[in-house]
Amino acid sequence: MAKTGSLTSPHVVIFPFPIQGHINSMLKLAEVLCLSGINVTFINTQRNHSRYLSFNDVQSRFGRFPGFCFETIPDGLSADQPRSAGFRNSQDLVNMLHRLKTVVRPGFRELLTSNRLKIDTRGPVSCIIADGILGFAIDVAEELGIPSISFRTSSACSSWIYFCLTKLIENGDIPFKDEDMDRLIKNVPEMESFLRCRDLPSFCRAKDLNHPSLDFVIAETSYSTRATAHLLNTFDIEAPVISHLRAYWPNLYTIGPLNSLLNTLRSRTAYSPHSSSSKSVSSNASLYEEDRSCMTWLDKQPEKSVVYVSFGSIAMVSREQWLEIWYGLVNSGHRFLWVKPPDSLLAKDDEESHVQAETELIEATKERGYTMEWAPQEEVLNHSSVGGFFTHSGWNSTLESMVAGVPMVCWPHLADQQINSRYVSEVWKIGMDMKDNCNRLTVEKLIRDMMDVKREELMKSTAKVAEMARQSISRDGSSYRNYEGLLEFIRKSC
Ligand code: UDP
Repeated sequence: MAKTGSLTSPHVVIFPFPIQGHINSMLKLAEVLCLSGINVTFINTQRNHSRYLSFNDVQSRFGRFPGFCFETIPDGLSADQPRSAGFRNSQDLVNMLHRLKTVVRPGFRELLTSNRLKIDTRGPVSCIIADGILGFAIDVAEELGIPSISFRTSSACSSWIYFCLTKLIENGDIPFKDEDMDRLIKNVPEMESFLRCRDLPSFCRAKDLNHPSLDFVIAETSYSTRATAHLLNTFDIEAPVISHLRAYWPNLYTIGPLNSLLNTLRSRTAYSPHSSSSKSVSSNASLYEEDRSCMTWLDKQPEKSVVYVSFGSIAMVSREQWLEIWYGLVNSGHRFLWVKPPDSLLAKDDEESHVQAETELIEATKERGYTMEWAPQEEVLNHSSVGGFFTHSGWNSTLESMVAGVPMVCWPHLADQQINSRYVSEVWKIGMDMKDNCNRLTVEKLIRDMMDVKREELMKSTAKVAEMARQSISRDGSSYRNYEGLLEFIRKSC
């Protein structure tokens, strides 16, 4: 194994957008690079970093890389303002974007120009890998004469739609009326036969073309073309749209699924994935405390019998929606393991009917349900008793489910999740899309479809997709070759 911590090795600074899914995939990239002998400085916002330190065994995961280091910068939000989870409305997101420009950007620049990064075990910064929605990092890199790599942590299909947004606006496809949700959009090459208005990334639902989140995504996409190179956490399954993206991002490396690439590199090194405390070293970077008691519960369930339910770290769910999902799950007759992160429930109401329904459901759930606040998700998806995933279609979750060969029922909430769920159901055929349709009857039907009625066909396609993912990170697979290309690019920047 190449060793980090040498002054002659390249030194990469990695800077994620400060929310859970982005930190997870970029920290996997950091570990992958360390395993190839690259020195890495990983930047977290202070608040996320203290949560990360509280809930993860950093020493087991990174202690053996002398060339790895965390740095922190402030995010400019007060202690009670929402961060990764708890965005209650688009204004919270807008506040965060504003702070990124006014506080995080100067903090990032200051860090790179100060002496803090010049230490004995790492040479000068040779390359910056910044989140694909932190365009200001490209500015800072340009100013300092350092090559920049932009890493979009979402799906390639969503990035391709983002590039088409200006055309969609010119053609009058967006904004669209509520009654046009099922209209086909003909102006996104590769997607003409299945892309409906409701499948466009959530920002496109804005009624106002000057909506800050739509503006933001269009501006960041156009800005991203200035980076020296681009990274995506995807693989051959998205080949058709990847080839369109290369017209805008000629120097594009697709190196996914990163969780598989990381596991492969871990197993090829002398590194054991278990620390001396025999606790497994997660490849996620949880900002919540993982509740491992669910693994003991899973051990007691029959093979492929459990539906794992999780809507990620950002999605907010109303109490009414929780109840509909809960009824649907209980009525499906299947066992379920349900993650309900703190802060994910929209403002509580004390309606008597809700309280009574909850009491009934808690009773019904005791028999075959288990709930918790945060799970070791990758381990859960790979557990032999898990047979399906009821998901919000976040890109990390989608990839993790593909790799584990677990079919999905998708209930997308925001950003790229709308298009990811459409691909899952219509293109890859590895699940069903419940989009915009959260009621107990639909939940019950789709869970039964996934676990019984359509089981055989779904399992055939999920097995094919899992095999394709495995192939792509094998030595002659596309993602592995692209990863080698990325290493060469980084070494040349040194
Ligand atoms: N995750 C986890 N435990 C949970 C729920 C989620 O470890 O209980 C991880 C999951 O494995 C994934 C990430 O959190 O890597 C969520 O990222 P994703 O892109 O799927 O969704 P987001 O949270 O960004 O909406």
